[in-house]
Amino acid sequence: MASPINRQIVLASRPEGGPNLANFRLVEAAVPEPRDGEVLLRTIWLSLDPYMRGRMSAAKSYAKRVEVGEVMVGGTVSKVEASRHKDFVAGDIVLSYCGWQDYGVASGEALRKLDPARAPVSTALGVLGMPGMTAYTGLKTIGQPKAGETVVVAAATGPVGSLVGQIAKLEGCRAVGIAGGAEKCRFLVEDLGFDAAVDHRVGDFAHKVKEACPDGIDVYFENVGGAVWDAVFPLLNDFARVPVCGLVAHYNDTTLPPGPDKTPALMRAVLSKRLTLRGFIVRDFAAQAPAFERNVGEWLRQGKIKYREDVVDGLEKAPEAFIGLLKGRNFGKLLVRVAPQ
Ligand code: NDP
Repeated sequence: MASPINRQIVLASRPEGGPNLANFRLVEAAVPEPRDGEVLLRTIWLSLDPYMRGRMSAAKSYAKRVEVGEVMVGGTVSKVEASRHKDFVAGDIVLSYCGWQDYGVASGEALRKLDPARAPVSTALGVLGMPGMTAYTGLKTIGQPKAGETVVVAAATGPVGSLVGQIAKLEGCRAVGIAGGAEKCRFLVEDLGFDAAVDHRVGDFAHKVKEACPDGIDVYFENVGGAVWDAVFPLLNDFARVPVCGLVAHYNDTTLPPGPDKTPALMRAVLSKRLTLRGFIVRDFAAQAPAFERNVGEWLRQGKIKYREDVVDGLEKAPEAFIGLLKGRNFGKLLVRVAPQ
């Protein structure tokens, strides 16, 4: 029998602006051998996330970049194929960080065992994983929503935004989502229970946001930047809180946008309205992981929150799907099914 091959997607070149297919290359390698304390993993689910655009860039950031020729990084749900670690046996399903490839080896200490009876294992990459934790911790710790307040979030059908809006509703707030396209907006209101949704692709977008927020905005969970920030900024109320989580509209920028310097107007509003703008990286709030898992797990079991996944089949499809993520082509948490469970 031919020995299995490890297909890997490596960074072929660094993008200038938006990534394209030529920035990625599919290569074949031998399946790695685990050493003492390690396990051999077969990827089932690969998570595609906006932060990966930053890893493709040479610019200094909060995390290590991927070097040209290296396997693209990424969170994975994997099956243990062979174990040389006392806590794992073949067949276990684990949360891992094997990246864009069929097989990987990892130290047992870096893995978390998943219980398929508790929730579909793919949720460990979405609503019950890093994006869910981002929504929960950023909203609770920085946003601090109170009943009756208005909470606005963009990229609202994604794994971060959809949970932000649903938690805001559970806290008794008015939740307004911003998303690209009529179908995504319909989903936010009819399926997730948002109070209003605004399509950022329509011409009178800023006016529509104002209409959707008659009492102004108390919490703006910033996922996007760009034109969405421009529309939201004038509507911020005194003492509004802005958890700055992501700026996906700018991830492909190569220069500053043209136009006047808006910094003085921003700083004047920060001062006179006593605004709180605070950036965060989810790992800053690692200590809240038990509370996140308990609360969001419970809400999910009780049907108080919903989630949506956008599944692409085949590792070779990952580059195209990732390029689409930065253009809003995904509808829900973007996952690649690399192998059947
Ligand atoms: P999503 O699945 O929501 O995907 C990104 C979405 O961004 C797209 O689907 C698209 O939705 C929207 N988008 C892309 N470009 C634009 C644009 N120019 N203007 C408006 N919307 C745009 O992603 P996630 O839920 O995984 O992540 C959401 C944000 O959270 C990202 O900015 C990400 O980087 C950030 N993040 C930050 C973390 C942290 O630790 N700080 C951790 C995890 C995520 P649409 O079609 O609706 O416009």
